[in-house]
Amino acid sequence: MSLPERETMVCTCGYSIGDPWVVPKQRYSLFGWFVMSCGISYPAKRVNIECDHCGEVFDVIEGDGKFLEEYMRRNR
Ligand SMILES: [Zn+2]
Repeated sequence: MSLPERETMVCTCGYSIGDPWVVPKQRYSLFGWFVMSCGISYPAKRVNIECDHCGEVFDVIEGDGKFLEEYMRRNR
């Protein structure tokens, strides 16, 4: 029980961070969508780490792309 909650969390279908079903999903603001629709690359400001199967959210990351890269490296 000494493990951090993030590593022990399991969604309703039994997956946890590290499983192929658990993926980062980028959430853009309306402004972000508008900018991207103009063909301009817009950095993700918010990423949900969630199960692609049931949609349960494990974690929410707010920040720029570098932050996400660091996160993915840690959990690889
Ligand atoms: Zn799930």
